[in-house]
Amino acid sequence: MLERLEPQSPDALLALIKLHAADPRGDKIDLGVGVYRTEEGATPVFAAIKDAEQRLIDDQDSKSYLGPEGDMGFVNALMPWIFGEDATMGGRIAGMQTPGGTGAVRLAAALAQKAGMKRLHMGVPSWPNHAQILGDLGLEIAPFDHASADGTADIDAVLGAIRSAGADEGVLLHGCCHNPTGIDYTPEEWAQIADAFEMSGAFPIIDTAYQGLGRGLEEDAAGLRMVLAKVPEAFIAYSCDKNFGMYRDRVGAFYILSDGKETLDRAFSNANALARASWSMPPDHGAAAVRLILRDNALTQMWQDELDAMRARMRQVRDRLAAAGMAGSVDLAPLGRQNGLFSMLPVTKEQVASLREDHAIYMAGSGRINVAGLTMGNIDRFIDAIAEVTG
Ligand code: PMP
Repeated sequence: MLERLEPQSPDALLALIKLHAADPRGDKIDLGVGVYRTEEGATPVFAAIKDAEQRLIDDQDSKSYLGPEGDMGFVNALMPWIFGEDATMGGRIAGMQTPGGTGAVRLAAALAQKAGMKRLHMGVPSWPNHAQILGDLGLEIAPFDHASADGTADIDAVLGAIRSAGADEGVLLHGCCHNPTGIDYTPEEWAQIADAFEMSGAFPIIDTAYQGLGRGLEEDAAGLRMVLAKVPEAFIAYSCDKNFGMYRDRVGAFYILSDGKETLDRAFSNANALARASWSMPPDHGAAAVRLILRDNALTQMWQDELDAMRARMRQVRDRLAAAGMAGSVDLAPLGRQNGLFSMLPVTKEQVASLREDHAIYMAGSGRINVAGLTMGNIDRFIDAIAEVTG
């Protein structure tokens, strides 16, 4: 039976990790994998997480089942950070824990489909797993251009998509730190987007995987909040895997906004059933640690300080790149206006290969770079290499 299966192409980024690991050159630079790195190139466990984990070891008295919704203390503790002071928007939001942001995106798409959604408008390029998840569910994707050539958002394209979306259609947006372009909407653009949703009735699905890594915790949630203030219903997929450094522990949450208590309960019960049929229950450990942090003022402060330092380091790298201006044919200036871990360089596949082979600089074939792979120690070499390869 199994011989009927078509072979699937391996994940290109995972292949890049192997190539990088096998490269003996001492000055190699890894801009491929999507994790934060310190100036020393490490991806450490947050000190606040270490502390919370120690408390879990000392105090956790059972690992008995929690249920498909996971750790509701975690789900509720996150809400003011995402939705603001009125954390439930007057009782209109219900949420559950998911295995990472990926689980939340999967649940959002599956529940939307169950509720009758036929088509989802989506900016491209996007996180590759978006298309994979939607394709796997059999949801039709209507793509629109996310970015303009000048490194800003193609606001006309997104507004056009929202306005043209018919009943039973959704629009998937990144809440902040767009992956792979780093191009976020400005506050003025978010206001236009929120108005467009209000007028069109299209269903918003907002994927927020990097809150706090762009402009700040509040700033990075502002766009999402503007949209939610104007619409009756929406889904929010959330990941704590970057902003708490929990990657492999798979910490995420899925939230439903609805304007009717009865509808909200019904939607939540369906999300619960889908979660049960998919993974039964999310892994507990990471979410429990995040709950402990968010319920303790000292740990919360420690976490925010660590997040601030990460954001400041990435901003320093971006400012340095932007100050370099033109490197060969590549204008690095737009990277200073972009947010989060990723940006895209306008380089060809051949130039990406040359950067890897001749300069030991590893990046995705698409030209996506993880700016956290750059440090004050290697950034000049990177800029020189871009200039040489594209000049
Ligand atoms: N959404 C986007 C836009 C992402 O970039 C990612 C992570 N790469 C996710 C969701 C999923 O995150 P997680 O690792 O928590 O599943």
